[in-house]
Amino acid sequence: MDKAVEAVYDEVLKRNPNEPEFHQAVREVLESIGPAVAKHPEYIETKLLDRLVEPERQILFRVPWVDDNGKVQVNRGYRIEFNSALGPYKGGLRFHHSVNRSILKFLGFEQIFKNALTMQGIGGGKGGSDFDPHGRSDTEVMRFCQQFMTELYRHIGDQTDVPAGDIGVGGREVGYMFGMYKRLTNRFESGVLTGKSLKWGGSLVRTEATGYGTVLFARSMLQAQGDDLEGKRIAISGSGNVAIYAAEKAMQLGGVPVTLSDSSGWILDEDGLDLDLVKQIKEVERGRISEYANRKSGVKYFSGSRPWSVPVDVALPCATQNELNLADAKELVKNGVRAVAEGANMPTTPDATDLFQASSVLFAPGKAANAGGVATSALEMEQNASRTRWSFEKAEKKLTEIMRDIHDSAAQTAEEYGRPGDYVFGANIAGFTRVADAMMEQGIV
Ligand code: GLU
Repeated sequence: MDKAVEAVYDEVLKRNPNEPEFHQAVREVLESIGPAVAKHPEYIETKLLDRLVEPERQILFRVPWVDDNGKVQVNRGYRIEFNSALGPYKGGLRFHHSVNRSILKFLGFEQIFKNALTMQGIGGGKGGSDFDPHGRSDTEVMRFCQQFMTELYRHIGDQTDVPAGDIGVGGREVGYMFGMYKRLTNRFESGVLTGKSLKWGGSLVRTEATGYGTVLFARSMLQAQGDDLEGKRIAISGSGNVAIYAAEKAMQLGGVPVTLSDSSGWILDEDGLDLDLVKQIKEVERGRISEYANRKSGVKYFSGSRPWSVPVDVALPCATQNELNLADAKELVKNGVRAVAEGANMPTTPDATDLFQASSVLFAPGKAANAGGVATSALEMEQNASRTRWSFEKAEKKLTEIMRDIHDSAAQTAEEYGRPGDYVFGANIAGFTRVADAMMEQGIV
């Protein structure tokens, strides 16, 4: 790291103690941007980097609610409005017991550059709660979402801050939150939340977009090397909508996904996944992935570990942060993996990323590879603002173009700076430059 940039990082460590995930995300970006900063001494003079690493606004609130047994529960709600240089704050809400300020700041920080890469005019933000919908009844989830929104509503708006889903927040939760927003404001402001139901303002392809986009990005990396996805064996982790639709797109493009996982374990289906069965278990029954092995013969279930030990050509970590570590990376490299694309946010630890890159494995960072979800959220906002509804084909075509552009811009930027094939560096510089240019033009705010 360059001296002036290192000083910014030291200050981040001092001002944000006990936030390891946030430090990790900031470090990864600061490590890349030295060459861009060297060209622009005004970034240092105007403290642009110091401003970039400090969220514009952080909202923290109490969410009291009553469970089905009449007992009062108290959770914490958050919204990190990180950067609005390119548009209204945009990013998901995560409901999971692990949620804390560090995790949401890392996610919000990543979101700034991811959203910049989409070229859709959206700033970066993230929010959520330590409430976990798993094991809660439908009415408990509804009451929690309503209570959460009784505070959040005053901070968001279609021109201000537009939340969406993330882990633990899907169509059901977005629906309950939208209902309460509408009641509190007396406005049918469809563009205030994305990931809405298709029946009242949602966009076709939004559900599929993150997973589809990740696979499209992986294919672009392979194609740039004269290879393709056809016939490739693929390990996927996770079993939420990113993982499920990554598997779907991979199959459409001739790949063979053989694994999925959840926090308890993973399944190996050597014949290739049966997606109808996966969707029945995960989307309809909201069950565990182990159930897949109970219902299909020849499928193996491994409890308590992750799916990185099987020999595959492509690995798509689509579960959560830091789920693929150095030992996993060694195993994948030993078994001949060709490409890794992050469907989740920061799923690969820094030392694992370094190993992939040192071993010439094509590596796509999440801020580029999983940007299809938020990009399609922006398409949803566009449809809401113009009161139109696009066909599946139109939305998918647009998503495919956006993912190709992100790939090309990361690849070209890496090439321009003399680091061909380094998608981490290319994505960081391309995203950062767009945000930095906007911040410079908007003055010290
Ligand atoms: N949570 C998703 C992400 O990490 C999507 C956010 C959105 O659609 O606003 O990018």
